[in-house]
Amino acid sequence: MADCNETLKELDRFLDNELASEAISDLSSHLEGCVDCQQTFEFHAELRNIVKLSAKQEPMPNSLITRIQECFGTDLQEDLDNS
Ligand SMILES: [Zn+2]
Repeated sequence: MADCNETLKELDRFLDNELASEAISDLSSHLEGCVDCQQTFEFHAELRNIVKLSAKQEPMPNSLITRIQECFGTDLQEDLDNS
């Protein structure tokens, strides 16, 4: 079974639907038993939704992006560039 580090490393690829089904089931079984990863996972999924929705409507102010990045250490700009 994957450990926390491996799981979090795969998180972005999972959200991008880039993982093979075997890797997805590994990941899912880890998440079932690990609340920490579950929360990180849900947060990232949520954040992506927010980013995508905001990108459709109007550009997010850079100050907001910076604040989110500072809070969560997430490379949000990368998500925006990819969408
Ligand atoms: Zn974990």
